[in-house]
Amino acid sequence: MEKELGIYIHIPFCVKKCNYCDFNSGSFSDEIKALYVDALCKEIEIKSEFFKDYIIDTVFIGGGTPSILPYEYIGRILEALRSFYSVSDKAEISIECNPGTVDEDKLINYRKFGIDRISFGLQSTDNDELKILGRIHTYEEFLESFKLARKAGFENINVDLMSAIPDQTVESFKKSLKNVCDLNPEHISVYSLIIEEGTPFYDMELNLADEDDEREMVHIIPDILGDEYTQYEISNYSKKGYVCKHNIKYWVRDEYLGFGVSAASLLKFNDFKELRLKNTNSVRDYINIVNYDSELIKKFTDFDIYNPFYSENIILSEEDTMSEYMIVGLRMNRGISKRDFYDTFGKDVYGSYGDIINEHIKEGLLKDEQGFVSLTEKGRDLANYVWKDFI
Ligand code: SF4
Repeated sequence: MEKELGIYIHIPFCVKKCNYCDFNSGSFSDEIKALYVDALCKEIEIKSEFFKDYIIDTVFIGGGTPSILPYEYIGRILEALRSFYSVSDKAEISIECNPGTVDEDKLINYRKFGIDRISFGLQSTDNDELKILGRIHTYEEFLESFKLARKAGFENINVDLMSAIPDQTVESFKKSLKNVCDLNPEHISVYSLIIEEGTPFYDMELNLADEDDEREMVHIIPDILGDEYTQYEISNYSKKGYVCKHNIKYWVRDEYLGFGVSAASLLKFNDFKELRLKNTNSVRDYINIVNYDSELIKKFTDFDIYNPFYSENIILSEEDTMSEYMIVGLRMNRGISKRDFYDTFGKDVYGSYGDIINEHIKEGLLKDEQGFVSLTEKGRDLANYVWKDFI
């Protein structure tokens, strides 16, 4: 039987770096972009010999800002994928876009390439907040992009919002959420701003929301979104039938294969328990290796040699796998299935984590209901505190 596989394709290019961003992304010349896409198509081809038994059921083109590439490049990447892999006709194919970087022509062509889900990085509908974040677009540009996406036939649209933006109030957050809700997207993600070391925000004096306001922003989300949307993950809300199938693979630890710089993969080959790969973080190294030393790409199962194509190349121990299983599984509202834990590890979840689970149940942070262990509402507020115990 064919196994299912999710594909992640990383496009590391942005118009300019946002003030809070620590992703592997940046501004590069058109020449590098063209070379990178050539290299991506080659990596896709080279790895294909290992994945003949798989059917691709999700594809996620993320970044960075994939939509700054000419649409023909996106077409070439998907063509390479379809030429060398078995891509299901029903595969969910998503692309991340930044408002202001798409036009009608691009969106119509995305549809022609079979892309059926679009994810807009909006973050806020307040132009002052967008400016503070260092975003390249205005709310009005987003509205135009959203309208064009609907016109091009996209019936599955996600909008990313952010809470705890410097200078943001509970009221202005509420307004952003209401504005987005009025557009009726199928999916909304809301992430809290985290100030990461190495980003411009880290060295700036910022007027940040206090803990109470930050928590209130999170708590008002379900009320504003109403019954049409269901929270299915700590930061993700969707209408019925519109969960992001690709992202769920990360949270339930299904297999996925990443292409491009810093793209991660989780593979479960017969002779290994679980294999974690991460490609090199350097765009230049990536292009050079693909062009001049491409045999290295195939050597992801040679753990003893230093391989510059991979920044990470390890077999996960059972302890690592279990810990990851708990942490990512608890991100989902349904939590982790006790039966699935048993089927995966051949032991009871209470045998491995009984003390931790019981302690957090006593504190009101976890619950055990209908075969699933999950975070309570209070537990979602203190998720980091709970997760750290499973590391
Ligand atoms: S658009 Fe996204 S990936 Fe690019 S710099 Fe901004 S936050 Fe980072």
